Amino acid sequence: MSRHLSELRIVFIYFIFASGWILFSDFVLEFFIKDMNTLASWQTYKGLFFITITSTILFFLIKTHTSKLYKVQKELEGTKQRLELVIQGANLGYWDWNYETNSQIVNDTWLSFLGLQRDDIANSIIDWSARIHPDDIAITTNAIAQTIEDFIPYVIEFRMLHKDGHWVWIEGSGAVVSVDAKSGKPLRLAGTHKDISNRKKAEEKISFLALNDPLTKLPNRFYLKDKLESLIHSQKDIKFAFLFLDLDYFKNVNDLYGHSEGDKVIQEVAERFKNSMNTSDFIARAGGDEFVILKQNIDTIEEECKKLIQVLEKPFIIKGLEIHLGISIGISLFPKDGTNFEELFKNSDIAMYVAKENGKNRYEMYQTKMTDSIVESVKLDNEIQKAIENDEFVVYFQPQINLNSKKVIGAEALVRWKKPNSRLVFPDAFIKKSEENRTIIKIGIIVFKKSLEQLLRWKSNNLFEGILAINISAVQLEEDDFAITIENICKEMDIQPTDIELEVTESYIMKNPQKSIKTLRNLKNLGFNISIDDFGTGYSSLSYLKQLPVDKLKIDRSFIKDLADNNEDRAISKTIISLAKNLELEVLAEGVETEVQRKFLEDNLCDSVQGYLFSVPLDSEAFYAYLKSL
Ligand code: C2E
Ligand code: MG
Ligand code: MG
Repeated sequence: MSRHLSELRIVFIYFIFASGWILFSDFVLEFFIKDMNTLASWQTYKGLFFITITSTILFFLIKTHTSKLYKVQKELEGTKQRLELVIQGANLGYWDWNYETNSQIVNDTWLSFLGLQRDDIANSIIDWSARIHPDDIAITTNAIAQTIEDFIPYVIEFRMLHKDGHWVWIEGSGAVVSVDAKSGKPLRLAGTHKDISNRKKAEEKISFLALNDPLTKLPNRFYLKDKLESLIHSQKDIKFAFLFLDLDYFKNVNDLYGHSEGDKVIQEVAERFKNSMNTSDFIARAGGDEFVILKQNIDTIEEECKKLIQVLEKPFIIKGLEIHLGISIGISLFPKDGTNFEELFKNSDIAMYVAKENGKNRYEMYQTKMTDSIVESVKLDNEIQKAIENDEFVVYFQPQINLNSKKVIGAEALVRWKKPNSRLVFPDAFIKKSEENRTIIKIGIIVFKKSLEQLLRWKSNNLFEGILAINISAVQLEEDDFAITIENICKEMDIQPTDIELEVTESYIMKNPQKSIKTLRNLKNLGFNISIDDFGTGYSSLSYLKQLPVDKLKIDRSFIKDLADNNEDRAISKTIISLAKNLELEVLAEGVETEVQRKFLEDNLCDSVQGYLFSVPLDSEAFYAYLKSL
């Protein structure tokens, strides 16, 4: 409307002026001039005058109008140039589609996204749409249809075919830019394209990493949870098995060969498992050396587990060496052992833990009773750690008596755990666990130091001349720096290693005799005495016994207990005593409780004894008093 306003105004002004002039000039002329001829020539002059005036007015009116138009046109061109610069700067492709003729215009950037030259593309929208990914056609046609209907611009993401055959991700926007004034139908649509392939790749990588493990490319725990939940909701009466797999001895691989070799092993394990899967199985890496497999065929679950164990039987090659690994598997069943991810995970983990406890490289089905024992075990783990921090381990001492001289020739240090409620916990309740979680290394040092403190006290008061026997666990002996550590403690406390006897069990020696001979020789060379504890229970080979740098055999309490009426035990005790004599070793009998036992051992020339008959293990103050009373 406003466009026609200025034209109307010109015409209106002209109309008023012309009408006024004609009426007014004719009236004035006719008033003053009465002669017809003169009037006619004056009217000619008046007409010429009118044309001159109106031409001049028209000239100025048109001039003002066209200069206005020119100015607007210049401004438009400036805006257009700026817009093109913005489009170029933003690396935007531009398209303009004539809706009536179905022809289209695109800019060079638009072409460059698809690797096209101008001649490669027809001037038709059909060419354009033929390049859209089949899966994205619905998105684009819907967006355009919606925009045409409600005139609201759209922004969508879709793929278009590059000239070399790969798909390019495009962010496309579009709007109706021209409309038929009468029908209200769109005449033109225009919009921009942006190549977002890099952003899409980054997004895909992020979403892959969010659900998959980068090392094995297997689904991770989150993916597993999703999968499990959708499996649960897939069918009404679905049953499946949740297998929790944990590699045996994998820590050794990392410790001995480093983490990058460890990673390779994990990759190979994943590959072997993947290759042994059934089509309906789902495998995920749950963490470090842990995998989870969901199996829908639960009737054959035990055979499937045996197969998985077999899969790892072939050795792994690390740096040219053959390494054997195993796998412990815990199984929980849906819905029997758990109705959600957390329960199934927890219970199969418990069953796996039991599989480890029962000897590793095997599988166990979850049973409710397993939970209690695991809870206890985990509790104990934590409690031992806390007990170390709170200094709750104390040492008791039991005297060792020579049967000949009747004198105290030694004392055995025995650890006790004094809980804050002053309840005394005996070693049988925590030594095994502390060996498993290796806290025995710290506990061993505590016992060693506390025992040596007492030895110093006894010696400085001239109460003791014997040897202090300290129990040493296999876990401690396997530590490379064990010998140096205890040697340093002796030095710091100014105690000779010859005043100390290290009690090692027969089972430790027989586990790896060659290695223990070396370890014990090293300790012997430092001056420590060595005795074999619980002798008779560990099937020592006599040939090794000869090579061991041992000073003493301690006959296990189990042979002493029934000496009075068990001929076999009597025979064994006698044999051990004569064996010790033949090998020129001392021999001590443990657990002597009765006079009959003492008499038998004395008659058979056992050197010394230890047991309740003489004294129960005593705390440091009681033992000090005991020594004083002698
Ligand atoms: P062990 O070294 O064979 O210790 C002898 C065990 O027999 C001690 O049990 C002692 O209290 C008990 N005993 C001694 N005389 C008699 C007796 O006449 N009758 C009966 N029934 N028992 C007797 P304890 O103190 O409960 O220790 C059990 C085991 O725990 C020890 O057997 C030893 O293998 C281990 N142990 C104790 N202290 C330590 C330690 O500081 N470090 C390590 N690694 N092991 C320890
Ligand atoms: Mg002992
Ligand atoms: Mg013993």
